[in-house]
Amino acid sequence: MPTYSYRCTECDNAFDIQQSFSDNSLTECPVCGGKLRKVFSAVGVTFTGSGFYRNDSRPASTSSSSSSSPAPAASTPAPAAPSTPAT
Ligand SMILES: [Zn+2]
Repeated sequence: MPTYSYRCTECDNAFDIQQSFSDNSLTECPVCGGKLRKVFSAVGVTFTGSGFYRNDSRPASTSSSSSSSPAPAASTPAPAAPSTPAT
């Protein structure tokens, strides 16, 4: 649950409150009943620049690592190359 910071425009009372995204924003100061202002430089919700979008826009097809038939390691040389006949 994100933490929002509010500051009263009347008495300068500042406080943090945890609200879900569906909750309504507070508009009234609990101290003096004045107008509240949302402060966005809070600690809870920080969207850090350009790297934030990279995580979502990744193609989803990269995670298709089927381990049912792993590729055999070619350690044995193929015998189908008779370069020097023995007889
Ligand atoms: Zn106030």
